[in-house]
Amino acid sequence: MAKILMMRATCNTNLYLSYAAPLSPQKAMSMCPSFYPVQFGAKPISCSPIKPQFCVQVQAFSSQQSKDELPARVGFLGLGIMGSPMAQNLIKAGCDVTVWNRTKSKCDPLISLGAKYKPSPEEVAASCDITFAMLADPESAVDVACGKQGAASGMSPGKGYVDVSTVDGPTSSLISARIQSTGALFLEAPVSGSKKPAEDGKLIFLTAGDKSLYERAAPYLDLMGKSRFFLGEVGNGAAMKLVVNMIMGRFATAITHRFWVHMPMSRPQNPDCFSLICSMMASFSEGLLLSEKVGLDPSILVEVISQGAISAPMYSMKGPSMVKSLYPTAFPLKHQQKDLRLALGLAESVSQPTPVAAAANELYKVAKSKGLSDDDFSAVIEALKAKLQQKS
Ligand code: NAP
Repeated sequence: MAKILMMRATCNTNLYLSYAAPLSPQKAMSMCPSFYPVQFGAKPISCSPIKPQFCVQVQAFSSQQSKDELPARVGFLGLGIMGSPMAQNLIKAGCDVTVWNRTKSKCDPLISLGAKYKPSPEEVAASCDITFAMLADPESAVDVACGKQGAASGMSPGKGYVDVSTVDGPTSSLISARIQSTGALFLEAPVSGSKKPAEDGKLIFLTAGDKSLYERAAPYLDLMGKSRFFLGEVGNGAAMKLVVNMIMGRFATAITHRFWVHMPMSRPQNPDCFSLICSMMASFSEGLLLSEKVGLDPSILVEVISQGAISAPMYSMKGPSMVKSLYPTAFPLKHQQKDLRLALGLAESVSQPTPVAAAANELYKVAKSKGLSDDDFSAVIEALKAKLQQKS
């Protein structure tokens, strides 16, 4: 029997788990044959008073949606490393997709796959029922949504805007307010997962905002991802994403140390190696504490991390090319530094010290100053190499 895990929390109360089945079994089975309930402990988890409610749905999907179940016209704005394969998966599944990108040439491969093209975000939004946006950073996300000929100008009641870019909570709220002022609905849905999961339709969506839009967008999210979390009010998805990436930023720095000094992790008696293990753990602890402080559920963060790139396979994914000083871009270093910067801002907003993440951020800034912005974030090793060379 298909089941969805529902999780509710109220201010100053404990958080309990219960099962509900909001979809008919037939519908649920057709959407996701590999549905599974998540194993959380039955023990109550304390809840921060900041955010009053969570509703979490965790599902695994086969990404096989019937064409008949996808009636909407879908817009896609931003066709970079992530946006392009995401839009491609929608087109390949038979969706009616209209694309726009600042650099028009990136639209061409998608047009040849069957996408329609409009010359502005406004025109995409006006011609579509649901519009997704995958932009570089807060500035571009705001510009594309709210600027001149931005998506908001083409929105109206009944339409939906789903921003899958990684931005901070205040940026997301700003975009949400502008979209909602047109009568349309807003959902933030930053993703965990990189280029390969985007190509394979195996992203993890951390959504928050309008619940009815979440439900309408779900079939499309399932074509692009393997699971989705609904985290309540706007800002929660952004916060969860930034905490995950803050941990990842420090994790990659630790891997960098490991490969640079060629030290197996199996030698904890070595003080340098030990400090690496400690810093990874410190980073993880920072993330858990921060997630709780901003009103997220740390156990969900753990679940999100266990499904994403922070799990051990990152060693085998990044390590071999790092030792050869090769950094084929899956996640641009400039975006990792941006996410660390935003996570530090999030921590600052609740007066949480994050010294490990701050130190990692400094390293990424050095890497940027060395012209590595567009390389993969594993190129942070080069900043470390430069530091070590300065010392010797
Ligand atoms: P990317 O390849 O650099 O693509 C960025 C997109 O934003 C491009 O379509 C770019 O257009 C557009 N853009 C940038 N500035 C713009 C502006 N001022 N106005 C309009 N459009 C603008 O980045 P990406 O790797 O796809 O990442 C996109 C988002 O996903 C970021 O928020 C990133 O943090 C997040 N993310 C990335 C990964 C990853 O592994 N790559 C994983 C998870 C989340 P042009 O083509 O014209 O430059």
